[in-house]
Amino acid sequence: MLKTNESRKSWRPATELVHGGTMRSNFGEVSEAIFLTQGYVYDSAEQAEARFKGEDPGFIYSRYSNPTTRMFEERMMLLEGAEDARSTASGMAAVASALQCQLQAGDHIVSARALFGSCRYVVETVLSRMGVASTFVDGRNLDEWQAAVRPNTKVFFMETPTNPTLEIVDIAAVAEIAHAAGARLVVDNVFATPLFQRPMELGADIVIYSATKHIDGQGRCLGGIVLSSKDWIEEYLHDYHRHTGPAMSPFNAWALLKGVETMPLRVDRATASAGRIADTLAEHPKVARVIYPGRADHPDAAVVSRQMTGGSTLIAFELKGGKREAFAFANGLDLILLTNNLGDTRTLTTHPATTTHKNLSQDARDQLGISDGLMRLSVGIEHVDDLLEDLDRALSGV
Ligand SMILES: *Cc1c(COP(=O)(O)O)cnc(C)c1O
Repeated sequence: MLKTNESRKSWRPATELVHGGTMRSNFGEVSEAIFLTQGYVYDSAEQAEARFKGEDPGFIYSRYSNPTTRMFEERMMLLEGAEDARSTASGMAAVASALQCQLQAGDHIVSARALFGSCRYVVETVLSRMGVASTFVDGRNLDEWQAAVRPNTKVFFMETPTNPTLEIVDIAAVAEIAHAAGARLVVDNVFATPLFQRPMELGADIVIYSATKHIDGQGRCLGGIVLSSKDWIEEYLHDYHRHTGPAMSPFNAWALLKGVETMPLRVDRATASAGRIADTLAEHPKVARVIYPGRADHPDAAVVSRQMTGGSTLIAFELKGGKREAFAFANGLDLILLTNNLGDTRTLTTHPATTTHKNLSQDARDQLGISDGLMRLSVGIEHVDDLLEDLDRALSGV
């Protein structure tokens, strides 16, 4: 039998991330066990019947749920202040599931246009094949959200800060427009992390993470999670998730349980370093501009101060010149790695115009401010002086 500590008091996030959701077997193991099992044995035919009827709380099949993945979900629910959650094999499985489970032919979705590339594919291509119409808006412009509403609008979808230009969308204001229109707001909260932004407290109905990013934070495994109210999960996601199979592997759930334990330490340190690096880059003669949510010169600084409690581990900055200068900078780095992941212990950088956002038209890139000189930097936990030296050396070579 698994023992939980349900009667305990609630703790602060850093404590929940170490202890929350833990279920111990008869062995009393300290660290969470990995239950690598597809199925579960019943004591009797009556117990199997009761479990399938939902009258016995045990597990049925690991595509539905598993003790290790459930521990990960419970821990994330405590952190997010959500009533229920379902984990998925990747962040994109979380996004696709959260949207597809609640939309059907004839519905309409309004989405901010600054979206992670695969999210844009899901909204633009997958949902439209299902017969769901979509409208893309400038997420920062509240009038555009309002004007996009149709009688059949069911969902508003956004991420903030956005990838890669770190635009900020006002979650509370967009939630208000969504609710007045009878729609639900889905927020992809990857860039802010659950530590620095709490979309549900600001009115979001559903929150999504790619656990691949800061939650794992060590470049090991993919994962995702959808968090919401008990009612929404029961009505929309529960059956969809059971029967279409986006389930997270118990092994990855275990790696992610280890990941979240140290997430506050990693994110705090990386954010402190990112603040210093952003300020240094802003002063550098080869840099045209720096976009960082922790700086007073961020175009949406007022919204940042209302809805975020920390800057970000990500920085966007533009080199004077264009692609040639950006590539010279990237190729001149010694320590910082060229890769398109983010939220890692290692500092990573990418040139969005030729990698993550290469599939967008030039027009779409212009609209989003993704110029040929733009670099995205995901700051890790290395010593900040080593990072500053590496950046300075690479910039000098430009
Ligand atoms: C990475 C990412 C995703 C997709 O997550 P995967 O785990 O790679 O599938 C979705 N949204 C945002 C904002 C992301 O950064």
